[in-house]
Amino acid sequence: MSLSAHLIDAARRLAEALDLPPREARLEAQILFSHGLGVNRAWLIGHDRDALTPEQIARVERLLERRLAGEPVAYLLGEREFYGRPFQVTPDVLIPRPDTELLVELALEHLPPGAPLNVLDIGAGSGAITISLALERPACRVTAVDVSAAALDVARRNAETLRADVEFLVSDGFTALPSRRFHLIASNPPYIAAADPHLRQGDLRFEPSQALASGADGLDLIRRLATDAPNHLEPGGWLLLEHGWNQAEAVRGLLQTAGFRAVFSARDLAGHERVTGGIAPIGARAGVAEA
Ligand code: GLN
Repeated sequence: MSLSAHLIDAARRLAEALDLPPREARLEAQILFSHGLGVNRAWLIGHDRDALTPEQIARVERLLERRLAGEPVAYLLGEREFYGRPFQVTPDVLIPRPDTELLVELALEHLPPGAPLNVLDIGAGSGAITISLALERPACRVTAVDVSAAALDVARRNAETLRADVEFLVSDGFTALPSRRFHLIASNPPYIAAADPHLRQGDLRFEPSQALASGADGLDLIRRLATDAPNHLEPGGWLLLEHGWNQAEAVRGLLQTAGFRAVFSARDLAGHERVTGGIAPIGARAGVAEA
């Protein structure tokens, strides 16, 4: 059987098992074959009449079986691109989403190049957000926390590979940062409702649930961040939060209640309000001033 016949067969099995449109199934088959064979996709096209050795078939088949059982492509490859750079990913971290590039872009708008500002990322996961910010704004001092030490190991490795200077700390929200303040806090927190059926579908089944779900309405952590962030922002500092496509109004309400100013939401490429932010309440230092 030729390589192209193997590819066609694999695409058919992927389309059936994962309910993928034919185009996507063909693309996934090519990605899995190039990874399994250690070649690029152009090579596959140039060698479509080659016969595969039994070892090659076995290597590709092992990957294919895992994908057919639902494992995310990013975990099978061990890598996902984010903001133009490759990030190592393992099942200890959420797979970086293109939606989250909006959070990076908005953060960069508030971080003038060259300004030595303090930046915090809460829930760093693979480090995709934090490392992108550190590399785009080398003058900033970037700190990243995550409740998962295993996730931070992945983030640290990515920072090393991509040569980003980031301070990583294990912390549940702000607990490990009692008296520190930042000019900008960005977070892609877990925000899916605990009972949301999507958690049992697709890639999400294989991702760390503590990176995805947060209480009955998904807003538990966002509620905590809205309340706690004012004590950790410099005057005029920004809080930027990613959230679900239908949570913008609720998140704006939480920020307004917490006293944030200039509260806004921004839309992702799909047109969904995906990130909400605001400026630290006046008197964010009130704890000090009023004491
Ligand atoms: N955007 C992801 C999804 O819905 C969830 C990411 C998150 O919970 N932070 O698939």
